[in-house]
Parts: sequence; C-alpha cells; structure tokens
Amino acid sequence: MTTKIPALVCVDVEPDVRRPDFNSRDGWKGFEESLRLFEELRRRAGVGALFNWFLRMDPQVEILYGSAAWAAERYGAQIDGLRAAGDEVGLHTHAWRRTGGAWVTDHGDQGWVSRRVRVSFEAYERAFGLACLSFRFGDHWMNDETFGLVESLGARYELTLEPGQRPSAGVPGDEVCTGRFPDYAKVPREPYRPAREDFRTRGEREMWVIPVSTTLLPPWPAAPLYRRAVWRARYGRRQYEPLSLALDPEQFRHAVGDIVVGGSARESRTPSVARGRRARRADDARAPRRRTIGLTTPEGGT
Ligand SMILES: [Zn+2]
Repeated sequence: MTTKIPALVCVDVEPDVRRPDFNSRDGWKGFEESLRLFEELRRRAGVGALFNWFLRMDPQVEILYGSAAWAAERYGAQIDGLRAAGDEVGLHTHAWRRTGGAWVTDHGDQGWVSRRVRVSFEAYERAFGLACLSFRFGDHWMNDETFGLVESLGARYELTLEPGQRPSAGVPGDEVCTGRFPDYAKVPREPYRPAREDFRTRGEREMWVIPVSTTLLPPWPAAPLYRRAVWRARYGRRQYEPLSLALDPEQFRHAVGDIVVGGSARESRTPSVARGRRARRADDARAPRRRTIGLTTPEGGT
C-alpha cells in the first residue's frame, strides 16, 4: 500500500562558507552541485517533483560581489530553468554585518535586520520583475517584528521555524552573534497561520508558517535509562535538528524514519546518495520488509 506524504524540499542558495574572505568572488559550488543533484532526483522520481530554492540577496552578498542580486545575474539561466520546471524561488536572508575585518551576525539590532530584509525583497523584485512569495531567514532566527515586515512586503509563506529548538544566546563555534535565538519548543509541526502577537502560535495572520521538520539528534534508540545517561554524559544533550541532506547518512536515515515513516528507522529505506548502489543492494538483501520513499507532485494544490 502506498501512503502519500506531502513534503517540501528547501535549498538555500548562498556562499559555500558562512564567513567568506572579503576578497572572495567565488561561485557558489554548493548551489551548482545541488542543481545537478536535484535534477537527478527529479528525473528519478518520474512524476515531475518540484523543489523550493531560497536565494541570498542581502548586503553580505552585496559587499562580496558588488550587487545583492549577484546570484540572479550569475545563475540567471539556471534559475529561469528552475522556475520553468515549476519550482518555487524565494528569498533566504542572513543578518551578517561587516565589522572591521570580521563578520558578525547582528540579530540584536532590529533596524539592521529590517534593512537586510528590505534590501533582499527589493533586489528580488528588480532582478525578476516579480514579488517574492516565500521566505526563509538564516540560522532559523525570527522575531515578531521581522515576521510582520516579511508579511507586509508581500510574502505568503514563511519557512524558517524549526520546532523544538531551544532559546540560545549564540551559535556554536567561534562565530560572534548578537541578540537571542527564540524558543521554538511549542511551535506547531504542521503549517499554520500565526497570531499577531506571537508568530509561534496559531492565529489570524495572512502569511502561512510552514515549519521545518526536525528530530532529536544524535539518535538514541530505545535503551535503558542508565545507557541514555552514559550517552548524555559522553555526547551532551540531544538537540532538535532539521531533516537535512547535510546530516551524515546514518543520522539522515534515523531522521527520515522518525519524521516521515514514524517509529523505527530500521524499517525505512531512504534515498541515500552518499552511500552508493552497492550499499543499498546489501541493505535490500538484509531487510525484506522495507518501505520505499518516493517523490511526487502535490495533487490539485495551489
Ligand atoms: Zn543560510
């Protein structure tokens, strides 16, 4: 029996590294590779699967390449091709700020954040002659004021929120970040229209929130409490992470099992790009009761 589960695949189109060298004008190899990968997936799906691409058109891009619309100029033909195939092309905006010789993520200055968003929407409209309808902010960050601004600029779908993420003051590693990341512990897992006073709860706003699918990682299968305590001591607290091709294959398999199939990941067969055909054949021989996940287009959707 086939169960159809609608799924949106989002690709952020942005520089390969988070803090590029100020003299760098490199092409975006991650995007170029993604174009090839998703064309292959589209072909293998056999039913005209559609994807969603979110372009960086903010001042970090402007500083590096001389134009916020650089991606539309450099990859115009490819983006036109995606649109012609029926894909959605939206915006992905980060709040990077150049301070001296370094990049700082400046979520703490609302005026700064709002200008990044406005520059992005203006660049999009200038480049494509169209209003941007779909938006993803960088690093799963959002607040009510920015949400209202994105809605007022004409977007209809907001795809930033990652349910389960806890509030935090910064990002891991040695990056510098101002402001705070909001608490998404109670954000609904299904698409919803949010409340005016709090974008994280259901209400009457026009713009839809389509939350990212998340799961707790690393995967800790059912195990006695003492074993979980040992794992926690060794690896730290588990966190909600988005279902993403950036996960390693085992974590990706676990995440798909948890989010898409439900229950045991061992029963699911995921389209593994990294592991190769031989590994998949070995899997098939070992597990006779497997389910296959395929891609389809939405029926009668708008
Ligand atoms: Zn990003």
